[in-house]
Amino acid sequence: MNLINSLLAILFSGFLFSQPQPSVDFYKADIDIIPNAADKKINGKIIYWFNILSKTDSVFLDAKNMNFSAVLINGKKVRHKNTKDKIIVYKKLKANRAYELTLDYSAIPKQTVYFLGWEDSIADNNQIWTQGQGKYTSHWLPSFDDMNEKVEFDLELTFDKDYEVIANGKLKNTLLKDSLRTSIFDMKKPMSSYLLAFAIGTYNCKKIKSKNGIPIELYYYPGDSLKVEPTYRYTSEIFDFLSEEIGIDYPWQNYKQIPVRDFLYAGMENTGTTIFSDGYVIDSVAFIDKNYVNVNAHEMAHQWFGNLVTEKDGNHHWLHEGFATYYALLAEKKLFGEEYFYWKLYKSAKQLQDLYREGKGEALTDPKASSLTFYEKGAWALHILRTKLGDKVFKAGIRSYLNKYQYSNVTISDFISEMQLVSKSDLREFEQTWLRDVKFPFEKAKLLLASSSADLQAFFNLQSELTSSNAMNEPIITKVWTSNTSSMLRENIIFDYHKSLSESFSRNAFDTKDLKTRQALCITTDRIPLGLKKQFESLLKDKSYLTIENALYRLWISFPEDRMAYLEKTKGIIGLPNKNVRLLWLLLAVLTKDYLNDSQKAAFANELFRYTSMENSIEVRQNAFSLISEVFPFTDQNLKDLVNASVHHSWQFRNFARNQIERLLKDEKQKGRIHELSKELKGEELRYIQSKLNVR
Ligand SMILES: [Zn+2]
Repeated sequence: MNLINSLLAILFSGFLFSQPQPSVDFYKADIDIIPNAADKKINGKIIYWFNILSKTDSVFLDAKNMNFSAVLINGKKVRHKNTKDKIIVYKKLKANRAYELTLDYSAIPKQTVYFLGWEDSIADNNQIWTQGQGKYTSHWLPSFDDMNEKVEFDLELTFDKDYEVIANGKLKNTLLKDSLRTSIFDMKKPMSSYLLAFAIGTYNCKKIKSKNGIPIELYYYPGDSLKVEPTYRYTSEIFDFLSEEIGIDYPWQNYKQIPVRDFLYAGMENTGTTIFSDGYVIDSVAFIDKNYVNVNAHEMAHQWFGNLVTEKDGNHHWLHEGFATYYALLAEKKLFGEEYFYWKLYKSAKQLQDLYREGKGEALTDPKASSLTFYEKGAWALHILRTKLGDKVFKAGIRSYLNKYQYSNVTISDFISEMQLVSKSDLREFEQTWLRDVKFPFEKAKLLLASSSADLQAFFNLQSELTSSNAMNEPIITKVWTSNTSSMLRENIIFDYHKSLSESFSRNAFDTKDLKTRQALCITTDRIPLGLKKQFESLLKDKSYLTIENALYRLWISFPEDRMAYLEKTKGIIGLPNKNVRLLWLLLAVLTKDYLNDSQKAAFANELFRYTSMENSIEVRQNAFSLISEVFPFTDQNLKDLVNASVHHSWQFRNFARNQIERLLKDEKQKGRIHELSKELKGEELRYIQSKLNVR
């Protein structure tokens, strides 16, 4: 982009984003909604109170594809226009007066509200939940797509009393009428519309309190009571740490966390009401492989960085994601130690260096930057800034910034000015290098890491000492290995240098009993040498589902004569939320000669093939599609499930399914089957498959 264009872009974005209605200030809203699961519809009523700052003859709200049955100002009908994405109300409005706008409406939201499980016959899996950011709350509520309009929203939801209803704010009251219950939530402070949220489903709740007495509600499915502790492990520690570290009290009345099925992201930091993927609901064995700690801390940090102070627009996205990522990392440092912190910074530095080397380096001020830049480069920038200013000054600056801009909107220059003011230092060079430049200063980052972390210092020394001949490497590695027992250092040595390591080195390494070291040894070995058979067999008992899955697979491939014994040892293990061990076990059991009789074989194959269906979570379905496609042709039902997946609301899963379909369509026989099957399809699924069949 040349200079004139970028100037135009800045001017244009200014016009586009800052205060589209400068003469109006909406300050409070009462929302009353009735979700209808059968029709996937929202019926609602909202009353807005607003001040007129300078006289005007219209106001508008964003409202996507809504029908309005009443539009009133101060209780009287007014002229209005419904443009399919806005409701515009015409009336001469006088300066320095307050008005009340009432809207009765209904909507069938195409996105933003997700209705799951209502069509199948399974009890307890019915859910309704929202995702506002990136999807627009104006699909279910006349509200503001612009983040600069902050309103105190009080929500009232009426739904079947057998379900739990959770929304932003404090549950003030519930009213029961026949089979319906109305839940009345109260907010005290304003927020941007994208942070409004509700979730409905079958849940139990564990209630805890922070050190400062803030109520924290941890929701879980009734069958998951044993998973509550490992899933939410360290929640109160993280909460107390963040409040203390940030130095500003938690800005909302309470904090809730709700897992939901087939969520669009890992988690979303709605005000006081984080919704997250139930793929993070785990048992204690899974904790080492996949846990909620980082996401938990990230969404919690957003309650300050994003929710209390909100970016003016996407040009300032660093102020959300860089900050949430950095403070989550600080929380993990507190929980898992300094070395953990520095290894994570090193790994993200390497990724950022790769990105830059591929010619894809991005500036943090680029509103279209990738998440790697916003999250990881964003966290790095804060780490650098803190190192430059020192802990005390950095923390004072953060406090001052949050205090000054609380419950309002901010730009990167607001933040930088505040930090300059408090620290009395010139941050222009920092701004240029870390925020405006597309380069990632890898060597600088490495130097800083080496001076802070004994592990990384040892690792970098090792890197420079190692010669190109593998035979010479082992003594050098052994020296570092024995002088430093850090689990993370050892794990990384194995991942990077396993080709240089002898069988006897590995045998000794297995004996360390460290789960991560053992896992790294397992993953980096394709064919198990006979001399390590015993060590690999011992992995089947490790407390890690990733280790068990990888060990089972490698043992089954390497030692055909012992396949039955390995299957017997791992029978009945389910594994991670994507059922990694169970799915692999079913596949191997069906393939193992003489292990099963015919009816067992049919039953297990049937179980495996059924995991692609929509009653399962997307994590399980994706794993099942992948495993089956490696070995078997898809059944007709698998194909139907795949077509269903190709129009799923989760874009990652949808893309996965679409890639699989593309692959199948290249094969004439599979294409013929899909063509035959398309005769049974309807709606969106039919449209998608037809578009694919016609192109070819
Ligand atoms: Zn985030």
